[in-house]
Amino acid sequence: MMPIVVTTDVRKNFGSVQALDGVSIQIPAGQVLCIVGPSGSGKSTLLRCINQLERIDSGAVWVDGELIGYRRVGDKLYELTDAEIARQRLTSGMVFQRFNLFQHMTALENIIEGPVTVQKRRRTQAIDEALVLLERVGLSAKRDAYPSELSGGQQQRVAIARALAMKPKLMLFDEPTSALDPELVGEVLAVMKDLARSGMTMIVVTHELGFAREVANEVVFMDRGAIVERGSPQEVLVHPKQQRTRDFIAAVL
Ligand code: ADP
Ligand code: MG
Repeated sequence: MMPIVVTTDVRKNFGSVQALDGVSIQIPAGQVLCIVGPSGSGKSTLLRCINQLERIDSGAVWVDGELIGYRRVGDKLYELTDAEIARQRLTSGMVFQRFNLFQHMTALENIIEGPVTVQKRRRTQAIDEALVLLERVGLSAKRDAYPSELSGGQQQRVAIARALAMKPKLMLFDEPTSALDPELVGEVLAVMKDLARSGMTMIVVTHELGFAREVANEVVFMDRGAIVERGSPQEVLVHPKQQRTRDFIAAVL
């Protein structure tokens, strides 16, 4: 089956900092890849490169069969325009550590904003779909609540619904529960588990090793911009081969 995401030897520097030092991953459709690793290891940068929030220095990224950022004409590559990049970016939905909802909009308005203003879909249809999504994340009763009236866990669930409203082929999660009070982590992970079970292709950067063990098809351990170890959750999280992986797991548990 065609992978939804392929990265080959992706490199990215910020000045003298080598954030990504040749990262290659592949995610088949419907699978969940969990990325774990210490702070500063390049996890967010990898997601941001896949979603074109950062431009890679070298290597290549394909999302849903399309080379991102470039158009190939013969044997030449041309950079895409901002509008073309914006279109490509819609293939993936992203959820960040900080629930960055629009503060002046209700939960429902947050969810329909993209479909209506970016995708130019009919408002009535967008609302119907948003109500289904609110139900799916367990927040039907909060449709008219503003972000300030919601808990962090509820806001993050709205953020997931908002990303799903754009009908992405791929969902990227960057430590979606790290900013939450411990008692609110479970409700967000439950929504993500449900999404994985529904067949969504997902890349999840997380320190929730229990979630990774239960949900991931593959786990990648990154350190200093490179993949140190990869394999099944059992292989990487339970029987890691590399000392750096063992040290990390011991520190997180
Ligand atoms: P992680 O998500 O694993 O904590 P990051 O991808 O955020 O790691 O960062 C990897 C490295 O790149 C770090 O050394 C970080 O300081 C650096 N970095 C990330 N983004 C930027 C940026 N916009 N400007 C400068 N350095 C950055
Ligand atoms: Mg990060």
